[in-house]
Amino acid sequence: MCRHLGYLGGEILLSDLLLLPPRSLLRQSWAPEDMRGGGTINADGFGVGWYTATRPEPARYRTARPLWSDTAFASLAGTTGSGAVLAAVRSATVGMPVVETANAPFSDGEWLFSHNGRVVGWPTSLADLAGRLPTVDLITLDAPTDSAVLWALVRDRLRAGVPPGHALAEVVTEVGAAAPGSRLNLMLTDGRRLAATTWDHSLSVRRTDGGVLVSSEPIDDSPDWSCLSDKQLITVTKSTVDIESL
Ligand code: GLN
Repeated sequence: MCRHLGYLGGEILLSDLLLLPPRSLLRQSWAPEDMRGGGTINADGFGVGWYTATRPEPARYRTARPLWSDTAFASLAGTTGSGAVLAAVRSATVGMPVVETANAPFSDGEWLFSHNGRVVGWPTSLADLAGRLPTVDLITLDAPTDSAVLWALVRDRLRAGVPPGHALAEVVTEVGAAAPGSRLNLMLTDGRRLAATTWDHSLSVRRTDGGVLVSSEPIDDSPDWSCLSDKQLITVTKSTVDIESL
């Protein structure tokens, strides 16, 4: 069930954040410790979005290759620093395509989005909610997957001016009602604030010296990680953490 990670804080090399920690996203791509609802490894691709000082829109790298086999990314990660990152490794849900564009993070302007989980009964269960979106949003989906539709639902709210935490809360509540039993851990950032939900899946948070990490699984053995309860919304900046119930 995919794994995702968000970081806001002081500048860090992508390799120090994603590849080198003892339980890094790299390790989670072949040896995750808390997969739920199917899947044993995250070999169907990965994606990384990161913000730089040069422009508000993030840079993004996505591929359908497993993280462990991508030497080009390893080289890039060892020389690229950022203070705001959203990254994910993917285990495709049965029936969904293994293509680059199905990998998070999905993006729009300054936004990056990821979904860790699965919508039960997709696509039928989402037909009503998706049917309310502008047609152009549906025909320009990144990929024919549940996650891409969830992103379209969140993006629609962001474009209407709904704050990020509210946008995630509305979407998980509506989709949770339309497709009971779904796993809906969402993550969203614009590089300055980050919001994420727990909906029947794991998520942990840790303050570091210079920032905040939010991750499906702890990436190291620090005792400072806290595991969130189910059905929570966490909103963070590089120096604050707020958690509320959904
Ligand atoms: N269902 C989504 C996909 O197939 C997310 C997968 C996951 O979390 N394992 O892309």
